[in-house]
Amino acid sequence: RTAPALLEIEDLTSSYGAVRALDGVSLTAEAGRITAVLGANGAGKTTLLRTVSGLVRSSSGRVTLAGEDITTASVESMVGRGMAHVPEGRGVIAELTVHENLRVGSLFRGKVDKSEYDRIYDLFPRIAERRDQPAHVLSGGERQMLVIGRALLAQPRILLLDEPSLGLAPRIVAQIFGLLRRLVDSEGLSVLLVEQNARSALSVADVGVVLNLGRVVVTDSARTLMADEDLRHAYLGF
Ligand code: ATP
Repeated sequence: RTAPALLEIEDLTSSYGAVRALDGVSLTAEAGRITAVLGANGAGKTTLLRTVSGLVRSSSGRVTLAGEDITTASVESMVGRGMAHVPEGRGVIAELTVHENLRVGSLFRGKVDKSEYDRIYDLFPRIAERRDQPAHVLSGGERQMLVIGRALLAQPRILLLDEPSLGLAPRIVAQIFGLLRRLVDSEGLSVLLVEQNARSALSVADVGVVLNLGRVVVTDSARTLMADEDLRHAYLGF
């Protein structure tokens, strides 16, 4: 291979006390692709993202970003290296306005040009309409758009997304995933998407990685995984 993969996870293991949540996980997220990590509740998906972004310390294994070892890099340094993590749960600051919440996304950078906010508002017209309203008035889908927009303000090369579809209507999920697809196809963004909603995730992803009890069961093209009925029934819940 000529260039290293954008994000390479090798033999990653991490535990919470005696619970081994990740047990030798290896996977690759290529540039310009959506890589979906799928699996049931408790498979280790959230722990994977938390370990990659430095919130949980691995007990062994290696993570590299564009060939640079980031296994023990701090959470704070990840943004500067081009990685933005959108955790599960859509953490907006309820009392702040939508625009103020977006500004939080620029804190780790120098001055952010107005045009960058305009770009986020162009991507998410629903958010633009509510820019001066407190974030607590937003619907779940709007909150998800806001936290994705906030992460995009950090100008990441790769976006780590934890369960963005959780609790959202299918129409809103399709809208958000469609937007991710456009950003990947037209702006070279890369996405590592963690989802329990495997059907929706596989419909937007290029590659799927199925986790079960902290281990990778299979990695293949989204198309191939979608066509595998036994796999879908055994691990993907549809
Ligand atoms: P979910 O969809 O519920 O987030 P998941 O696939 O993301 O599921 P993880 O949350 O990564 O799975 O959990 C993997 C394993 O680690 C599970 O056995 C879980 O009970 C355990 N675990 C997760 N977080 C903690 C924690 N803070 N303390 C102890 N055990 C934990």
